[in-house]
Amino acid sequence: MKEFSIIDHFFKQRSYQRKDVLIGIGDDCAVGKVAKGQNIAITTDTLVKGVHYPHDTSARAIAHKAVAVNLSDLAAMGAEPAWISLSLAMPESDPAWLEEFSLGLQEISEYYSIQLIGGDTVQGPLTVTITAQGFIPEGQALTRSDAKPGDALYVTGTIGDAGLGLDVVQNKLRIPVQFHETICDRLNYPTPRVLVGTMLRRVASACIDISDGLLADLQHILDASSCGALINIDKLPLSQAMLESVDAEASLNYGLTAGDDYELLFCVPEDKIANMERALLNANTAFTCIGQMTGQAGKLEMQFNKQPFVFSGKGFEHFSG
Ligand SMILES: [Mg+2]
Repeated sequence: MKEFSIIDHFFKQRSYQRKDVLIGIGDDCAVGKVAKGQNIAITTDTLVKGVHYPHDTSARAIAHKAVAVNLSDLAAMGAEPAWISLSLAMPESDPAWLEEFSLGLQEISEYYSIQLIGGDTVQGPLTVTITAQGFIPEGQALTRSDAKPGDALYVTGTIGDAGLGLDVVQNKLRIPVQFHETICDRLNYPTPRVLVGTMLRRVASACIDISDGLLADLQHILDASSCGALINIDKLPLSQAMLESVDAEASLNYGLTAGDDYELLFCVPEDKIANMERALLNANTAFTCIGQMTGQAGKLEMQFNKQPFVFSGKGFEHFSG
């Protein structure tokens, strides 16, 4: 199949349509309309086979994850996702793979009402790059840099599950069969916290999505905000599947260092906590206070049941091989 027919058949015909796209796939550029009073947020992420996902990952999962990781970055800034473009390198044009990939792309696009507005396909080792654009009301972008000492530190959902899933799909570990699907879905089909991100706009002082692991990503907030943090390790939100699959030490290791969860980690000043909690409860989103920000720039302290806790592990780095 030629590039133009691939784009037309698999991508253009299947793209979700938005009213703010004036010109979509088919011209030299896409043209979109930004509503008055809105700023535009832009992010891009590349997934490389064998680096960002295991070799036998399904095309549907790859499509989902490539979009989801970008939407997670938009969520971390409080942006509402709108448009995506795709740059796809593949060794050969494989219609069965493209069919599954484009259906995965269509599925997540429809779910989040985002339109694929452009694309490029080239021959090369399998590599998927998505660029995503979203909107934020003027001046309301969440950043990593406004946390203050005394702010409470929260995380959504449960953490460490995707890292556990990676070890399961790589056959490094066996877990009870009833948790297998849930845990592998956390790795292959991450849920970007899009709604929560928009709800945090006026209440969070700083926010980041957990892509590289709780400790590694928290450090980015500490550095950008010139703050420290105290985490209560006994408060880490770990899933039932995690707790029943591995021992306590391993579960803490996953929770603190495993990447790919795409939960949000955020700081909230004391006078905004009640508003934040009400909003997230209404959105039916689980969230946990795991500690607070402190005054010593860059310093991360941990406690377990109020006793000092020393952790020697290190943050997640993209696996290889
Ligand atoms: Mg990020």
